[in-house]
Amino acid sequence: MQTLSLSPLPYDYQALAPWMSETVLKLHHDKHHQAYVDGANKVQSQLAEARTSGAELDYKALAKEFSFHMNGHILHELLWSTLRAANDNNQPSGEMLLAINSSFGSYQRFVEEFNKTAISVEGSGWALVYVNPLDKSLMIGQVEKHNLNGLAGCTVIMALDVWEHAYYLDYQNLRAKFVEGYWNHVNWDKVEQLLNASK
Ligand code: MN
Repeated sequence: MQTLSLSPLPYDYQALAPWMSETVLKLHHDKHHQAYVDGANKVQSQLAEARTSGAELDYKALAKEFSFHMNGHILHELLWSTLRAANDNNQPSGEMLLAINSSFGSYQRFVEEFNKTAISVEGSGWALVYVNPLDKSLMIGQVEKHNLNGLAGCTVIMALDVWEHAYYLDYQNLRAKFVEGYWNHVNWDKVEQLLNASK
């Protein structure tokens, strides 16, 4: 596997404020996300070294470690790329709106289900929107940490991080306020691209 690297943000550190402050975005991207990249690379280099040295490794532990860090990296890349500066009346249109209406009945219902899913994550985790590979419908899911309770083979097209590192400095314990503010920053053009690419 190639060495992973952290992608630069597609906007500056102030772009998401006040929803996500410059301080939080900087820490979250440069420190937390970087740590997942480093963690995934470390597992891969241990595996690669053992292929030449013949060293005995704990493959079960390494697989678990890799799942955590690799999913952390992938979900954070998705998070940053599907956000943008706040827009007035920031709502989906086109194919994405059609998919939401057909899967959830309305945009409003979709937002309600997603918010409740995000707010109810126990401890650290994410709320995700998946494309179901079997019928191309949209599904909302929750993962604990970065990798538990995920749906295999489904394409993630939206991901909201509700680990405390994502919001605690800006909102303290008020996760629901952070989740509500997310909708002003969703980059629907990018989400629709991901939806279309998954078909
Ligand atoms: Mn995070």
